Amino acid sequence: MKRIIPIDVLAGSAVAVRAKPSHGFDQRAAAALAMLSAAAAEFPDAIVQATSLGAEDMLITDLIARHELPIAIGMIDTGQLHDETLALVERTQHHYGLRIEVWRPQATAARQFVATHGADAMRKSVELRHACCALRKLEPLSRMLKGRQGWVTGMRREQSQQRKQISLRERDMQGCAKFNPLIDWTLGDVWHYIRLQGVPYNPLHDRHFPSIGCLPCTRAVAVGEDFRAGRWWWESDGAKECGLHVERRSASGESQQSSQRDTGVHP
Ligand code: SF4
Repeated sequence: MKRIIPIDVLAGSAVAVRAKPSHGFDQRAAAALAMLSAAAAEFPDAIVQATSLGAEDMLITDLIARHELPIAIGMIDTGQLHDETLALVERTQHHYGLRIEVWRPQATAARQFVATHGADAMRKSVELRHACCALRKLEPLSRMLKGRQGWVTGMRREQSQQRKQISLRERDMQGCAKFNPLIDWTLGDVWHYIRLQGVPYNPLHDRHFPSIGCLPCTRAVAVGEDFRAGRWWWESDGAKECGLHVERRSASGESQQSSQRDTGVHP
């Protein structure tokens, strides 16, 4: 196993406040590692972790790096990310001695979208918000996954109503296997792992951003507010995903997405 030097834990930080393991944490940690190891073995050189660099994704990156699993790590730079998120890309690469693939939207399409609909298009309608997510997230994700057979996300069932139905293993409409090894983890479990292993994380988490996406679409949450209350807060709860996330069950029992990919690249 690779030796990694832990980071300091500051008093009052997200990791100090939130780290509270729930019953069965050790088993869940072992199961997540086993799933990642099996996925890497099933799809040698053809699997990628799509990371938002949120807390859950940093945990998965840590498992991949610590156990030297042959899983590539890719992130989507939408062109709208916080400086803190972009800095974390560099910090993560340095901390683990690995390379993170950076995928960006088509520059011309992004420029034309802003010229036509304005820089605040995502506030004008749910349709325009989905269009922005489609060109800045879904299209680069499609390129990231091209030629690959599997991908890994950090989605948890606890995160939202929409995510309560996710399975450990799904298959998206492009036929790619999608692994969600953290579905049963609590927020306290995630931060407990981060504390235990000294995982680097986005400093915005220390400023009450439990979920971090693009700058125009993410805000801090108040005490008692829902985990995802700071994401697209001007929309109704049902719309708060990057893509429509309608699911159906295949005959094998494997969950299969029947519409656009939910990127899972936001925590
Ligand atoms: S989260 Fe906001 S800025 Fe980012 S791609 Fe979606 S609509 Fe656009």
